[in-house]
Order: sequence, then C-alpha cells, then structure tokens
Amino acid sequence: MGEDGRAEPRAVAEEARREALALDPLPILCEPDPALRRAARPVKRVTRRVRELALRMASAMYRANGVGLAATQVGAPERLFVADVGEGLRVFVNPEILAASEETATAWEGCLSLPGLLGEVERARRVRVTALDERGRRFWLDAEGELARVIQHESDHLDGVLVLDRAKRVLELPPESRLKVAFFGTPGFAAKVLEGLVEAGVRPRLVVTRPDRPRGRGRRLQPTPVRETAEAMGIETWTPARPGDPALLREIRLRDTDVLVTVAYGRILPPELLRLPKLAAVNLHPSLLPRWRGPAPIQRAILAGDRVTGVTVMHMAEEVDAGDILLQREVPIEPDDDFGRLHDRLAEAGAEALVLALRSLASGEAPRRPQDAGAATWAPALRPEDEWLDWREPAEAVRNRVRALTPWPGAKCRRGDEVWVVRRAEVDATAAAPAAPPGAVLAVDPGRGVLVACGAGAVWITELKPAGRRAMPAADYLRGHRVEVGERLLADVPREAGRG
Ligand code: ZN
Repeated sequence: MGEDGRAEPRAVAEEARREALALDPLPILCEPDPALRRAARPVKRVTRRVRELALRMASAMYRANGVGLAATQVGAPERLFVADVGEGLRVFVNPEILAASEETATAWEGCLSLPGLLGEVERARRVRVTALDERGRRFWLDAEGELARVIQHESDHLDGVLVLDRAKRVLELPPESRLKVAFFGTPGFAAKVLEGLVEAGVRPRLVVTRPDRPRGRGRRLQPTPVRETAEAMGIETWTPARPGDPALLREIRLRDTDVLVTVAYGRILPPELLRLPKLAAVNLHPSLLPRWRGPAPIQRAILAGDRVTGVTVMHMAEEVDAGDILLQREVPIEPDDDFGRLHDRLAEAGAEALVLALRSLASGEAPRRPQDAGAATWAPALRPEDEWLDWREPAEAVRNRVRALTPWPGAKCRRGDEVWVVRRAEVDATAAAPAAPPGAVLAVDPGRGVLVACGAGAVWITELKPAGRRAMPAADYLRGHRVEVGERLLADVPREAGRG
C-alpha cells in the first residue's frame, strides 16, 4: 500500500501470494481421477468458505509452479479457478467466456493434473471473460496471450475437459522432470549446475541458498550466485539463517518434495531435513569419491597433478562426503586446465550426472554403492599460505599451483616490494637447469617471459598480474620494467598473514 492508501499493483500481488502461501495447499488430483471428469456447478454465493477455497487452491498452484488451477482439480465440483501468469493472483468465480477471437495460437501446454505430459493445443489468442472476484464483485476482462490461454484451459477443467482431449500432439517428458526437487546450493559452481538442470527439464520447485553477504569493495550486501540465477529463472528462493529453520522444514514438506539436491550449499543439513524428501537426499560433489572429500576438491586435484577427476552423486549421510555412491562420471584434467576451466567443465558434467541420477531415482532403480573409506583423501580448504608459490618445489608442482589458483584467488610471489600474481607458467623443456637457488631469475626473454629456477627444473612465467593492475602477458610487462638475470623472486608469506 502506498502512503495515500492507493495500492501499488505489485505490492498487492505479493500480498495475495503471501496470504495464499500462509495456508496449507490442497492436494492436486491427477489423471485418471474421475473427479477431473465431472462438470462443476455454479457457486451460489461467494462466502468466506469460497474465498478460503480459492486461497488454498492458489497455495497449491504456487507451490507446484503452476499458472492456473481449477476447483475440479482439488476435488471441489464448483465453478471457480485461480490464475497468476506473473501479474498477480486472480480469482474467477462462475467465469463465462463472452467472446473469443477468431485468431488462434498453437502452443505446448502442461497441466498440474497431468504431470510429465505436454499437449499441443490451439486456442483463441484473445478472450473476453466475466466472473466474480474473491469478494463476489463482478468484473469483465479482455485477456490475451498466456492469460487468455490459462482462462480457456481452466474453463475446460470446469467442464471436465482435459488438455489431452484437445491436443493435436502429446509429448511425454522424461521421468526426472516430474520429480519435485528442492535444490540447496550457494557458489558459482552450484549456480551453473542449477542452470544445467533447468535446461535439461528439471525445474526445482524451491531453491535454498545462504543469506546475502557483504562482498566487494563497498561491502554491500550481495546475493549468492545461486540466488541470482534462481531468481532470474523465476524460481522461488529461500535464504534461511539456519537450514533447520522450522518454516523451511514446513515448506519442504508442504511441497511434497521427492528429492533434495545439495551442491556446495556450505552448511551441514540437519537429519530432520534429510528425512523429509520422499525418495532421497543427494549431494553432487566435484571429485571421484572417496578421493578428495572436503571443501576444495577441484583445487586439490590440480595441485596434486591428477590427470583425471570427475563428479559423484551420492546419497547424503551424516559424515561429510561419505555417503553411498549413486553415480560417477570421469572428467579428464587437461594439461592446460586451470581452476576456472575445470570448474566450469565439472559443473556441466555435474548437471548431466544429476539428471541421470534423478532419472534412476524416478524409475526406482537408483544404485547404491558404499565408498571405500580406506581409500579416502581429504581436500582441505585453501589457507592464505597456500596462495604463495614455493620455488623450492619441483617445476611441475609450481606450475600446478599456478593452475589450481587461477583465476582465483591467484598464485602469488614477491619481487622486492612488489607482489605478482602469476597467471600462467610453463615448465621449461630443457632437461637440466643450471644450479641456481630456487626463485632465481635464470633468463629474461622479451617475447616469452621470465625463467625462474625451482627446486628441480625451472618455469617460465608467461602471464602475470602486478599488484593493483590488470593481468598481462609477461612480454607486455617486460616492455615497461627491467627484470635482471640473478634477481630472486621470493615465496614468503607476508608477516601480516601470520607467519612472522
Ligand atoms: Zn490443467
């Protein structure tokens, strides 16, 4: 409501939605329930009971990601439907289509009573309709586009007619797209997986992510990448302070959740939450478990020089990353991969693996293989000191550290007072490096970069980012700066980081 008492349309829409969601949803009947085939009778008077029926229907519609729901679909044989195509909740009591345009449009329509099916239906592009609203006031409406389609679809329901009766063609969606999924995730990796799931036809009914946090220069509150992605796709998003929040538990239950999916959510989920989904609670982890359990599996795999990693979908267990394996996919680590590139490929592979895992859960054929706990390795989070290059390590290890920390948070070294973030390094191909202390500059090639001695062998720094400046090819840096053979690059941790 605005100050002068006039309602702002958006605010009213949000208020009606909240009012509906506060009520328990009515269960939606599915084909072949005979109640769907009965014609409804007119509502005699719009009473409080009728208004509550409409709101509880809206509660069910919103929780099922629907845009319309007729009373016959909840077993109430009354001429009444609700609709919200993103412009706010509308209640239609005793609706009558007074006129329909000759011009038609053909489109694929879903129906909450026909999960997993789409029908291709031709409908009038525009309709004029009259009905009573939730307070019993008569209104007339000229609707077009999606709202016109919904009005015709729901009016059909009130006559016992389903999309199937009108469809020119019927499309059966894969079984996983019928699952009611709640998705828990937080960082960019989880956001990419979420995108992949939706593209594959698995649209979570609810997304849960960590609360907004101050980030960046202004320390302004910023939504998590998952929140940004989910909201851009129009999926309802929750940001509870605690995953055990009673309101969230109620919501997961009211939405009839089949599968709970977590991807790098960042908090341990309480057992009472894990017990709620009807089929399973699964987690996607970017490694081939039991290798690299823990918070930094992608970086640790690159640091260790692994040639292959992958993604694991597992059943969630109390112990972190120790659940029974449902499905794994290998992903090779290419010599040129850095953290950013491998991260994106694993997110893609992760979404594909999740879709397959959900399909097997939907068909009741999900495998379950315990992990070999004896073969487990731990992937601890990176500490500040892990971000400093250690020139005493062999050349290959130095290069792996650069790859594992690029593009973020960056592999650092010190040149005098200056800090370099090394963005790219190549192992020097010449077999024997001259005897020189680790970190010593062995050669400077204006076209290539700076050759630095390591504990064994040497690496070329070919791309770097001097403090406070953009990343650049080493050759560009060398045009403006003199680097001398014999200088030492240091690997120390600055005192303020707590090692002094
Ligand atoms: Zn329907």
